[in-house]
Amino acid sequence: MAEHPREDPVISNLSSQIPELSIHPGESAWLEQLDITVHDFPYIHPLLRSAFRDWIPAVSALEVGGQLSWLLADWTAEVIHTEDKAILSIWHERISQLMRTCLDSGETTAVKLYVDAAEEQHIIAAGIPVRTKSKAEIFAVLGCIIQGSAEEIAFGERILGMAQQHFTSCFYRRFENTFFKDMIAIQEQAKREAQRRSFLVDVVQRLHDKIDVDAVLHEVLDSIVRVYPNVHLEILMSQDHQGSNSRVKLLQLQADTDPLCVQAFMEGKLLRNSFRAENGQQQLEIAVPLSGKQGVYGVFHLFIPYEHFEEADIQLVEMLADTAGTAFENAKLYEQSNQLIHELRLINELTQRLSQSLQLKEIFKFATDELLHIFGAEYCCISQLDKDKDFFEMVSTNVTFLSKEIFPRDCGVCGLVYATKEPIILSDYHSYGRVYSRLMEETGSSSLIGVPLMIRGEVSGTILLTHTRSNYFSYENYKLLQVLSTHIGLAVANASLHAEVRRMANRDMLTGLFARHYLDDKLLEFQRRDAKGSLIVVDIDKFKQVNDTYGHQIGDTILKQVCNIIQSTVRKIDVCARWGGEELAVYLPGMELEEGYQLAENIRERVAVETTPPVTVSCGVSHWSRKDEKISVESLFYRADMALYRSKNNGRNQTQVGRDNQ
Ligand code: GH3
Ligand code: MG
Ligand code: MG
Repeated sequence: MAEHPREDPVISNLSSQIPELSIHPGESAWLEQLDITVHDFPYIHPLLRSAFRDWIPAVSALEVGGQLSWLLADWTAEVIHTEDKAILSIWHERISQLMRTCLDSGETTAVKLYVDAAEEQHIIAAGIPVRTKSKAEIFAVLGCIIQGSAEEIAFGERILGMAQQHFTSCFYRRFENTFFKDMIAIQEQAKREAQRRSFLVDVVQRLHDKIDVDAVLHEVLDSIVRVYPNVHLEILMSQDHQGSNSRVKLLQLQADTDPLCVQAFMEGKLLRNSFRAENGQQQLEIAVPLSGKQGVYGVFHLFIPYEHFEEADIQLVEMLADTAGTAFENAKLYEQSNQLIHELRLINELTQRLSQSLQLKEIFKFATDELLHIFGAEYCCISQLDKDKDFFEMVSTNVTFLSKEIFPRDCGVCGLVYATKEPIILSDYHSYGRVYSRLMEETGSSSLIGVPLMIRGEVSGTILLTHTRSNYFSYENYKLLQVLSTHIGLAVANASLHAEVRRMANRDMLTGLFARHYLDDKLLEFQRRDAKGSLIVVDIDKFKQVNDTYGHQIGDTILKQVCNIIQSTVRKIDVCARWGGEELAVYLPGMELEEGYQLAENIRERVAVETTPPVTVSCGVSHWSRKDEKISVESLFYRADMALYRSKNNGRNQTQVGRDNQ
């Protein structure tokens, strides 16, 4: 009984009997079996009092002649109700004694309280035991004080038994009523329980199908509001959820706007707080954490008018929050894995496309276009660090005024990224205020994500993406850019390496001039593109002798001197190559034979003067033009070689030209 403090103990005792009684419509036997026992006696005062109140009007209506006043004692003979308090106080001792005697003897008992001298006026008190139906145990004593003549008293005494019977039936009517009320309450309670269970099953089933975090929150909110329309509900999420539901808000952990929610979130358990609302109504505030296996995601925040909620409802909300937390976590994991798959696909595609190109320019251009597209950015800048010259060069961008710009290494956001070697995310450039950026200023950008382009552990450039809207880029964007930048860095490193190998393959190591095959290829290219050109072949005179005299090392130095003279004499577009041994060749695109001759002479003259130990060279010059019949590379060389041969034969240190017929 102590477990049900709020309920009437008799009723709850009786309630437990219900399952044992087989209740069938039309049968009332079970009702007759229903009775109170001595165990219930300490708890029946309310029933006795209400039965007494029901009964008094009927019994008072009886015409008995004398004056009757009724009282009621409980199973311990204590008077618990009386019609006439004055009489009771006058005869208190005697009446108490009477009630006890009656209870102990189990008999109707009467005492004379007063008889006047003339024996005209009598006052007597009588006690009649009231017994249970089934075991005839006395659970109350009905008392009656009768005033009147001897006749009137005798008549009054006669109706006592009838009055007692009537009281007993009043009591049992009350008792049955209460019993029925309780049964109905239990049924209603059971119905509510069943409703809650089916509601929970229903919600769980619906949540089970949801693979979208927003849909999970929607479903839970709608379900609760459907079942508890009087409840004010919101969900506070620890991270920003840009959903469409206005009841989903951000849980401000720092602010003290929702202290109960913050505490429930931190402690991971349901908390409640009752208070009186402005309208004077008692309200209950509940904060239930929305948690899954991996953490707490937010808090259900409910305001409930007191009378609308039972403890079981709170438990239901708690279970719902548990279910929703798991569903939310599942949906979140699903979303994250989808996002991961999407990112992996992106990385895969990007690396495949990047690896198709070994041209740095192409890679930068492709990366710019792709990054703009992937992140929905408005502007993209890729800059490369020129280590020798110590500045950044904008190698690819869609910001026209920044294209090919060069700027110092410690300048703007690039400078910041270079100095820290760390990626950067700015949600609002103007409030950040720690760096001045031309890119941000002149494009009116507010959001930025930037990463260093790392090659072999060193910053070799930067990638910056911007948008005019503040808070545009997400943390996921920022992370993804870092991943993509490593792949772009790899492609850049690869292409740079390839360019270096190509450069080395095309160059002669000793002289720094192009190799012969390179000149051959270039010549073919020029002949396809141009209308004319000249070729000079230069050969050091008596070089064998030089080697013999000074040694090969000095020979090499002289060879290098000659090469430097040739390179500093010709134009930038001319192609100088080591043709073989100490024989060198220069192709002069678009140049006439005469001009070629003049250039060869310049070289020859400078060599004679500028080399130490001094050497001389002999030159042969040839020319081609589109109107010639023989315009092959071979014939061009052949004719230059022939001219050189003539120079040698003619005494060396001179230039001869090779014409078609020579
Ligand atoms: P000329 O051309 O005037 O007829 O006489 P030459 O002595 O220069 O001609 P030859 O073709 O007989 O000899 C070329 C010499 O150039 C042979 C070789 O020792 C030398 N030589 C070729 N390549 C190099 C080089 O890379 N370094 C040095 N030190 N000598 C080289
Ligand atoms: Mg020679
Ligand atoms: Mg030679």
